[in-house]
Amino acid sequence: AIKLARRVTDIKISPSTAAAQRARDLKAEGRDIVDLTVGEPDFDTPAAIKDVAIAAIHAGDTKYTPVNGTPALRGAIRHDYRSRLKIDAADNRIAVGGGGKQILFLAFMATVEAGDEVIIPAPYWVSYPDMVIANGGTPVIVPCAEANRFKLTPAALEAAITPATRWLVLNSPSNPTGVAYTPDELRALGEVLLRHPHVLVLSDEIYDRIWYADFPAASILTVVPELADRAMIVNGVSKSYAMTGWRIGYAVGPAPLIGAINKLQSQMSSCPSSISQAAAAAALTGPQDSVDETVVQYRARCDYAYARLNAIPGLSCIKPDGAFYLYPNCAGLIGKVTPSGKVIENDLDFVIYLLESEGVAGIHGAAYGLSPYFRISTATSMAVITDACDRIARACAALT
Ligand code: PLP
Repeated sequence: AIKLARRVTDIKISPSTAAAQRARDLKAEGRDIVDLTVGEPDFDTPAAIKDVAIAAIHAGDTKYTPVNGTPALRGAIRHDYRSRLKIDAADNRIAVGGGGKQILFLAFMATVEAGDEVIIPAPYWVSYPDMVIANGGTPVIVPCAEANRFKLTPAALEAAITPATRWLVLNSPSNPTGVAYTPDELRALGEVLLRHPHVLVLSDEIYDRIWYADFPAASILTVVPELADRAMIVNGVSKSYAMTGWRIGYAVGPAPLIGAINKLQSQMSSCPSSISQAAAAAALTGPQDSVDETVVQYRARCDYAYARLNAIPGLSCIKPDGAFYLYPNCAGLIGKVTPSGKVIENDLDFVIYLLESEGVAGIHGAAYGLSPYFRISTATSMAVITDACDRIARACAALT
């Protein structure tokens, strides 16, 4: 057998990737599966963006680019941050990578050493803890109550900080809950951070254009500009512009950190795809109506699923502020018995039951660090969501 490094044996394959694969496998076996595991837009990339990529190929934009991205993409990012968030993103504060995922990984790789702690509020996006572990650090998971809309409180943050804390990770709007921090809440967390100058903040705002709340989307850096020398904001084109396969994400942050990320990038991949960078620049600078149109649809689906799930006895669900996920509470069904006589002991049992009884594929809350919940994605058609809600209602009603 090949002896693998600890950084690999200590981590797992992303549970959402694994659940999506399970759903695909069952479908391939001919089973009638309604897949609610997908974390990507069901829409295609807008044609205008594709055309720019095709033109880039014909124009010979087919070579390595600067490690920190093409001047066009950096310009587009700078413009976007200035106009939307009033954040100044000079060239030495921008890193571009093969997806937000790569940038996040490189940020931890650049800063985390054995014994370093990274505070991750739960429920969390499944990749944060494993990225920290893969880089030798220790995730410090802070459970966040549904009663507080799954948000980290200043008191819980204060209590979690130790001399070994390197990072606080925030994700707003959140995968898996869709919940976002208000400007006041960000300010209150910022006040705690200002008392602990050794803590860096990683704010993952990749869903910030998919927004439903009646308060404005805010970045921690806009609300607490005093954190400019230790806050890094991650974003990308995957979710907003239906460009997951193009693999472009980026970060704005302190120059020394961005420099370190770019140094690693120079040894890891040199740069992301030149063609994808051309497309991403066009996405950020072009007309934004495709985003607006998809958000209208995401919101309608989300509202529908929210109402349907809350009407099912045993389930309850808070209303998302953005993104395309719901994170229903299934506490009311724990302890119930399936028609085949199995007791539902936890949220994993529940999602397995949904899959086996009605062919609905979701992901159990334990994967996101907080039970008993499950995540469903609403980045799928209204017809599929309607069918899924019918099936979930039927499955729940069959429990005794
Ligand atoms: N951050 C969050 C919260 C996500 O849900 C995802 C994708 O699922 C990402 C970052 C990374 O996206 P990408 O690597 O496609 O930019």
